[in-house]
Amino acid sequence: MFLVGLSGGIASGKSTVVNILRELGCAIIDADVLARQVVQLGTPAYNQIVHHFGEQVLLKNGELDREKLGSIIFSDPEKRALLNSITHPPIRRAMLKQTLWYFVMGYRYVILDIPLLFESRHLTRYMKHTVLVYCDPQTQVERLIRRSGLSREDVLKRLASQLPLDSKLPLADHVINNSGDRDSTRRQVLQLHARLEASLSYLPVRVAAVTMATGLVALVWILLRRLWH
Ligand code: ADP
Repeated sequence: MFLVGLSGGIASGKSTVVNILRELGCAIIDADVLARQVVQLGTPAYNQIVHHFGEQVLLKNGELDREKLGSIIFSDPEKRALLNSITHPPIRRAMLKQTLWYFVMGYRYVILDIPLLFESRHLTRYMKHTVLVYCDPQTQVERLIRRSGLSREDVLKRLASQLPLDSKLPLADHVINNSGDRDSTRRQVLQLHARLEASLSYLPVRVAAVTMATGLVALVWILLRRLWH
């Protein structure tokens, strides 16, 4: 099995591409979903966040006010580092658990859908392939205006706070260009899926696992025989 990191930018079409991959039956781990799960009410990460940030980051129902937390860490790098040190370890553990599950289920590759994949370079080290869902800046602005209902000015401000998609292009092994219509995107996703399925990159890990499992069974067999004789 091998890992494929997938990312994009706001409104570049990541959800659209992930939905097509899901339809194809691919194994997908959504980092955003895990990030929400690990801070659910009562989890260790939730308790630590309340301890360090106070009850000001809670909604009336006791859940985390993610927007409030987001605005606190946006302007305070130290608090951002603190929050990351609380949330990243359980997110990594959850990712590992899901990856192992997909491995046991026999998937050849697992897609990790990670919003800031190309911003945090150390993550790309673990990916055999990286995929960028790209769309040209003009289309991105128009789609974001349409989806969010925000003014052009607000949308431009939001995009300015992110790494531009063009700067991520040289960092990706594969690019899905979602500037065109949905059919064109679907065709590119099908091609990518076929290439990844045909790749032999899954073999080393599978051979290692089969060798280890065989060795373990042989060892247990030898031990049991010794006990009996
Ligand atoms: P992301 O997950 O990257 O934020 P989405 O997949 O949600 O982006 O797409 C952003 C918006 O653009 C959505 O409203 C979506 O329906 C629309 N959209 C995505 N791809 C296309 C496309 N190829 N043609 C037209 N509209 C699209």
